[in-house]
Amino acid sequence: MFWEKEIETIPERELHRLQLGRLKKTLKQAGKSPAYGKIFKTHRISLDKIKTLNDLKRVPFTTKEDLRKNFPYGFVTMAKEKIVRVHSSSGTTGRATAVFHTVNDLEGWANLVARCMFMTGVRKGDVFQNMVGYGLFTGGLGFQYGAERLGALTIPSGSGNSKRQITLMGDFETTVIHIIPSYALHLWKVFAEMGLDPRKDTKLRIALIGAEPHSDATRQRIEEMYGVQAFNSYGLSEMNGPGVAFECPEKSGMHFWEDHFIVEVIDPKTQKVLPDGEEGELVFTTLMREAMPLIRYRSKDLAAIFPEPCRCGRRHRRISRIKGRSDDMFILKGVNIFPLQIDMVLMNIPEVGTNYQVVLEREDFQDKMVVRVEVRPEFFRGELRQLENLRRQISESLKSEILVTPKVELVEPDTLPKSEGKAVRVVDRREM
Ligand code: ADP
Ligand code: ZN
Repeated sequence: MFWEKEIETIPERELHRLQLGRLKKTLKQAGKSPAYGKIFKTHRISLDKIKTLNDLKRVPFTTKEDLRKNFPYGFVTMAKEKIVRVHSSSGTTGRATAVFHTVNDLEGWANLVARCMFMTGVRKGDVFQNMVGYGLFTGGLGFQYGAERLGALTIPSGSGNSKRQITLMGDFETTVIHIIPSYALHLWKVFAEMGLDPRKDTKLRIALIGAEPHSDATRQRIEEMYGVQAFNSYGLSEMNGPGVAFECPEKSGMHFWEDHFIVEVIDPKTQKVLPDGEEGELVFTTLMREAMPLIRYRSKDLAAIFPEPCRCGRRHRRISRIKGRSDDMFILKGVNIFPLQIDMVLMNIPEVGTNYQVVLEREDFQDKMVVRVEVRPEFFRGELRQLENLRRQISESLKSEILVTPKVELVEPDTLPKSEGKAVRVVDRREM
């Protein structure tokens, strides 16, 4: 049931004691980096002021901008001789950031990923195909070492090359995949093109999906298309990468590992810490990192902490599905909209295919939103005009969710741009 029973079921008081000890050690270590050395001095942070976990609030936040300003070595606490690897964010929202690891850091990370995978039911004897980019992106090597630690047979297939992915799945009888959700939807079409049905023609049983926001409707689609159990995987390179938070078999929120991270939720505007249950920006403090500890790192990712304990018995709390980054939100005619809301509506409509794109435009000083939606091949019989009812249904469903009426355009299957990494769903042309 558990990868590390004692730590996964640790009682709250014991956990807090453990966290406080690790926090003090982390702050001491962090102070050795030039960046935190300066920050701690400016804000007069000293270890004797940290008596309870609550005292963490005395330490200022660290932002992505701080990491960029101190790029590349400013937050590193030790000589290069002791550091063995650097990873970098995908740079989805600007210049990439770099994070450094010692051997121990990598050990701790691999163990966390193994813990997550084990929690979803992956075991020795499983064949694990890791269908994401290797290299600086953390999803590749992060899952690779985690799966090896668990003892699964691993196929480091990397991203893209869909036909080969499918061949590998057949040859080696893959049972578990790690895949970006938008790519899973796309790959299913390639199966169909090859005359294959993943439910019958593969041995797949588990899909680990993450790295980009997706709705529960998308998860359900993936489960149906592939005949698997799909689990949401959340991580960010600044907090190692994958292995930060993951769904358990209850599939209701993602457990975040409180022996490795302190997680706070703040109001992104006022920066006040919010109580459990309220949605805000996730803020992370590493508790086990040596080369580059980060204190109160503002992730920009929006979610809420569930106050209730989980039925699976793990005592580490859970976060909700990630709503998106605070800068994913766009404003149209005064209404705040998250791409995830659109995903949820579209993926709940069976006739909608596997890809869509949102384009924001400005015409005659008026903002408008065009939603291009691929129609599922079974429903597409050569004539898009016959699908007027569907078009209207999509438009009305979107309106009731996001409160503005978008222009919906139905397009033929396989005509919208697709990406092998994180999908780019929203194109904002209003500033150009
Ligand atoms: P970048 O920030 O440049 O994309 P990363 O590879 O570090 O680089 O990506 C981490 C980010 O990806 C997270 O901060 C979050 O916004 C997004 N992300 C990762 N996993 C999920 C998930 N399961 N659901 C929603 N968003 C996710
Ligand atoms: Zn659970």
